[in-house]
Amino acid sequence: MDGSHYVGVGIAVDAGRLLIHATDRYGRTLLRHATSAPATRVVDELRARGITPAAIVVGVPGAADDEVPLAAMLREALGGVVPVGVDSAAGLAAAAEHATGAHGDDLVFVFGGAEVGAGIVTGGRRVRGADGYAGQIGHLQVGANYDPCACGRTGCWTTKVGPAAAGAAQTPGQRVTLGRWLGHGVAILEAVCDPGRIVLGGYFTALAPDVLPVARKALDRPDRLTVSVLDEYAAARGAAAASLALVPVA
Ligand SMILES: [Zn+2]
Repeated sequence: MDGSHYVGVGIAVDAGRLLIHATDRYGRTLLRHATSAPATRVVDELRARGITPAAIVVGVPGAADDEVPLAAMLREALGGVVPVGVDSAAGLAAAAEHATGAHGDDLVFVFGGAEVGAGIVTGGRRVRGADGYAGQIGHLQVGANYDPCACGRTGCWTTKVGPAAAGAAQTPGQRVTLGRWLGHGVAILEAVCDPGRIVLGGYFTALAPDVLPVARKALDRPDRLTVSVLDEYAAARGAAAASLALVPVA
């Protein structure tokens, strides 16, 4: 097989745009690109940049659901002959973070994106759960919190640390409150998973100087809580690596 066509593409849905990472079979980065083009145009954009996908994985908030419209559009744009998978953005970001080797083989990645989710790696393997829903911590009820959540329940962690709450925390006092709520959730992750590292990623990375010292106080081992060594492309990077497993063997 001609290596130039053995390109895995990862696409992560991120606040009104798509983050794209393309990799060759050796894991070398061929393209990092953000676009707000409509999904129907994404394949044309890739081709214009010399990228012919051999497989695509789309990272979405929440769990893997092959019926997401973006995946259907990509399948159609590729003539139905290129495999297109769907996976949890948080889980993909966790896999990419694990692949850097920076945090060992037992980590929980807390992903601040369109939703708050966690990706879990234990013993070097990603935990997906029976139906692919592992890590949906954004909708865990935390503390004496009765704020209504979009999911229909009240008190979900995402009502306190989700994108709306994080965006609204502008003053130092508000950031301390955000850090406390962050600590509530990561303490639960620490208790359930006993990870070597709990890694904050997505929008939490930029907030870390303010929220990390506060959140650490909630942990039995404060040094476990740390920040991603990757950037906003973490989920797209993990998706590109995962896509290579979908490429049919020639
Ligand atoms: Zn909820």
